[in-house]
Formats: sequence, C-alpha cells, structure tokens
Amino acid sequence: MTAPHTHGSPAQALGAQPLDLGGRTALVTGAAGGIGRACALRLAAAGAKVRAVDRDDAGLSELVAQAGELPGSIESRVLDLTDLDAAEQVAEGTDILVNNAGIQLVRPIEEFPPDVFHTVLTVMLEAPFRLIRGALPHMYGQGWGRIVNISSVHGLRASAFKAAYVAAKHGLEGLSKTAALEGAPHGVTSNCVNPGYVRTPLVEKQLADQAAAHGIPQERVLAEVLLQDSAVKRLIEPAEVAEAVAYLCSPQASFVTGASLVMDGGWTAH
Ligand code: NAD
Repeated sequence: MTAPHTHGSPAQALGAQPLDLGGRTALVTGAAGGIGRACALRLAAAGAKVRAVDRDDAGLSELVAQAGELPGSIESRVLDLTDLDAAEQVAEGTDILVNNAGIQLVRPIEEFPPDVFHTVLTVMLEAPFRLIRGALPHMYGQGWGRIVNISSVHGLRASAFKAAYVAAKHGLEGLSKTAALEGAPHGVTSNCVNPGYVRTPLVEKQLADQAAAHGIPQERVLAEVLLQDSAVKRLIEPAEVAEAVAYLCSPQASFVTGASLVMDGGWTAH
C-alpha cells in the first residue's frame, strides 16, 4: 500500500504539470473535420474556450455536439477563409491560433488549373497570414500567445503532382518562422507541426486521385505511394497530431518557437 501524499504527487514534485488551458481562447480553422476537429476537442479537453472555424456548417454542428462534457467549450463560426477580411476579423481576441484548414489537388503542373492554384494559396497561406495579423494585437497586448501552423512533410519536402500544396506549405513554414522572430519579444511563439499522412477525409480522397495520376489501382496507392518513404508503415491518427499541437500551446512550451515538429514516421530521416 502506498502512503498518502500530503504535498502533491511525485509527478508534481518533479515539476510535471497537467496541461491546463483554462481561461484561454483558442481559434482552430478547418475544425469541422480531420485534424482540426481533433485539435478543437483536445484544446477544449484542456479547458480552452475554442472558436471553431470552418465553411462546413454541418461538420461544425457535429463537433459542437461532440464537445458535450469537456471542461472547456466549443463555439462554431461558419466562414469561408477565402474571405480574407472576415478571416482577419474572426481571429481578434484569441490567445491561441491553430492554422489548420487545407485543401489538396493532385495534378501535374501542366494540367493544374490556375484558379485552383490561387485558391489553395489563398486558403493555406494568405488566410493564415490574415488570421495571425488579426490575432497578434491581443496577444502582444497581454504578452502571451501561441500560434501553431499545421504544415506537413510537404512543408519540407516536395512530391510530384502537388505544386500548389507544396508551395503553400513551404510558404507557411516561412510565415511561421517570421512570426516567431517578431513574436518572441511579446511572449508569442509560432511553430509548425509537420505530419506525414494522417487518417482523414483529405487523405481518403487522395487515394483515388493518386491512383489516376500514377496509373495504378487504388489499393496499391497507400503502400506504394503514400507510405513509400515512411519507416513506420501506417497512417497517423488525428489525435496524435492534436497532442503535439496541445503541447505547443502549453505554458511549458514557451521556449519552443520557430520550430517545425516533424511527425512523419521517419520519412525525412532518409
Ligand atoms: P480535412 O479535409 O479532413 O479537413 C480540412 C478542413 O478544412 C475541412 O473541415 C474543410 O471544410 C476546411 N476547409 C477547407 N477549405 C476551407 C475554406 N476555404 N474555408 C473554411 N474551411 C475550409 O483535412 P485534414 O487532413 O484534417 O487536414 C488539415 C490540415 O492538415 C491541412 O492543412 C492539411 O494540409 C494538413 N495535413 C494533413 C495531412 C493528412 O495526411 N491528412 C498530412 C499533413 C498535413
């Protein structure tokens, strides 16, 4: 039988703190699905008041229903991030900003529609810039803020047929590092999280597109295309990405800034 603790647990004696974001407001974009939904739930589980932004109204309603008993709360804001002025406005007053919304189109460059290229860059690079711009005055005012940008292995490496996505993610890496340099004197950190392939609708949709682009059956795409360079031969779960995001939002992560946290099953170790 263990003795009762009178001065906190052994973990607390070592300085280990449970993640507590009580009193913090967190905005998550693309929160209706995949990684964004997992992030919104994880931050609400840590006590944050989450502003969940997405263009998918039904998905946001499901998320809000899922939040039920969590210590924090989730409120939804239906918004298309191509409306850049609205994006900047919705970020006002947040302590934590998770830039997550993303879209993908897999096509060779010579067949890549220029209007889609423009939209991908707008949603995945220009909107994050505007959201950061909207969030910073409040963060700087209080001397504390957390920006987490959901990048990708494709923020660090290219793949064929993903010109817009790779360009946007590489741009996001630069934006994140610049925000880190400017934010440091104000207690604001900015980091990227760089997952390999995550089990989400975005990836499930890609299986069909990749099959067409590479001319192979869909069932071979996962092993031969998506996981070809990953040492760990599985998809990551959205909750695993959300855990890393939550850490970067914690008070304990104040010295981690300008970083890109790679979660790629060893892909970039090659
Ligand atoms: P997803 O398709 O499951 O979710 C993306 C969400 O963004 C959706 O809810 C969608 O409605 C929303 N969204 C898209 N365009 C929008 C717009 N114009 N305005 C408002 N909302 C919009 O995708 P996911 O896989 O969860 O991806 C989330 C992020 O993670 C993306 O930035 C993606 O690039 C990145 N990522 C994903 C993977 C992966 O394997 N799934 C890997 C690395 C990085």
